[in-house]
Amino acid sequence: MTAILNKLIFGFTHFRERYSSQRKDLYRRLVREGQKPKIVMIACADSRVDPAIVLQADPGDIFAIRNVANLVPPYEEPEDGEISYHGTSAALEFAVEQLDVEHVIVFGHAHCSGVKAMVQGQEGNPVAGRFVPSWTSIVNKAYDMAKAKNPTAEGEELDRCCERQAVLVSLENLMTFPFIRQRVEAKTLQIHGWYLDIAEGQLSSYNAAEDKFETVVI
Ligand SMILES: [Zn+2]
Repeated sequence: MTAILNKLIFGFTHFRERYSSQRKDLYRRLVREGQKPKIVMIACADSRVDPAIVLQADPGDIFAIRNVANLVPPYEEPEDGEISYHGTSAALEFAVEQLDVEHVIVFGHAHCSGVKAMVQGQEGNPVAGRFVPSWTSIVNKAYDMAKAKNPTAEGEELDRCCERQAVLVSLENLMTFPFIRQRVEAKTLQIHGWYLDIAEGQLSSYNAAEDKFETVVI
């Protein structure tokens, strides 16, 4: 067995010992009553930004959807007879309609390869892959939004700006889902844009009234 697989198996052994001694009641309840998370989070597949680890969440807290660049695609009605595979939309539908979550959080992060791919594409450079270019094109307009906000930005500064604007595009797209818009308007569901700067170890949250991300402190 390779070292990394051994690490995971050792980790599970440790988890099982800890949880069977300290969290037995939590797991028994989660099995007996089923999961009732209050949060659905759209996070990046990036190995550095696992929301449960970064946010020290417990089992049952977060219904996590992870994809390249933490994107929400716009709502699409399936055409008659057409088969489509909307993984993120299906997970959102389940979380909102079946689990009745109270919060949707788009969890963006710094140094995102997926957003970087979008930036490359918008600057006329080829983007590697069969699926990544069309997927990241969901937030193409984040590039123009970033340039409008900060016309002189380029390189790393532009990337950081695009990552935050991409979160806003996903927030806009969330509202194109009828079952989300309806609940937001009824005030039974809130949507949030968060951004994790993995180099600085800072978490910020989008303040729509001020149109800016603000560092979260408790
Ligand atoms: Zn990412």
